[in-house]
Amino acid sequence: MKYVFGPVKSRRLGVSLGIDIIPYKLCSFNCVYCECGATTHLTTEVKEYIPADSIIRELDSVLSKSPELDVVTFSGSGEPTLNSGIGRIINHLKTDYPQYKIAVLTNSTTMHIAEVRRSIIHADLIVPSLDAVSDEVFNRIMKPAPGVNSSDVIEGLVSLRREFKGEICLEIFIIEGVNDTTAELKLLKEASEKISPDEIHLNSLDRPGTEKWVKPVSSERMQEIKKFFEPLPVKIIGKAVVPVTLSAYNSILENTLILNLTAEAVSAEEIAEKLGERVVDIIRAAERLAEIGEAGIIPGDNPGIYRILK
Ligand code: SF4
Repeated sequence: MKYVFGPVKSRRLGVSLGIDIIPYKLCSFNCVYCECGATTHLTTEVKEYIPADSIIRELDSVLSKSPELDVVTFSGSGEPTLNSGIGRIINHLKTDYPQYKIAVLTNSTTMHIAEVRRSIIHADLIVPSLDAVSDEVFNRIMKPAPGVNSSDVIEGLVSLRREFKGEICLEIFIIEGVNDTTAELKLLKEASEKISPDEIHLNSLDRPGTEKWVKPVSSERMQEIKKFFEPLPVKIIGKAVVPVTLSAYNSILENTLILNLTAEAVSAEEIAEKLGERVVDIIRAAERLAEIGEAGIIPGDNPGIYRILK
């Protein structure tokens, strides 16, 4: 599978089949906490990076077997709304598989574009993120593509709220010592009041991010931050997702990966290409293998490219 992954069980979404409709690793942000590695193609250009028809074909091959799912989720290793085909894919899902809910996880950088908002209007749930408001903290955490700023992001989300009839859960990722200051939290609370989401989800790091200095906040501090946001509808929510059955899919992928490792270091991208898998899945499988001592991972020459050594 090149675009469809999982299913995974998440506390927020239930049993979710993921769709990754952006090539690795293309994004309008290069977040310091990104679990998918550094962004190698930083852009705000919206275009059909991967043909919607190819993605629909792969989705059909999975969904035509009527798997037990709660939701189909657009997420993955880049910003899904940068693919201009997203609206067509959502409409296809709504027409042919109306039994599944549709969720879109977005970094919010395209929400000021009316056409992009229209393309996701038929989703059931949108999870936009907003981690900072002041320019300094916004640029420090997200390292955005040129031209991206928090005012456009907030205005875009206000417009989305006005037009979108489904549920909006605003996600705020808290990094110790960066966006947990009273000044930044105050700005985030004011922005949240303006956006008026159905829920605000507070997250912190629970897996290694791209940059080692990123630290999670303690659970006590998260409780304090939650109180700070009240009476807005705020929840602390773990980011962790777990495979539905350490899933057959993951075990198969790990075994295949072991068979494909050599004494030579090989990049995750090369293996992904060879196996027809997503780079991010290869990285995660390699990390799981590394944890149990089956493989070593060394950083590659380019940021975000891992190399795997048996
Ligand atoms: S966390 Fe999301 S928005 Fe940030 S760089 Fe990674 S994929 Fe892009």
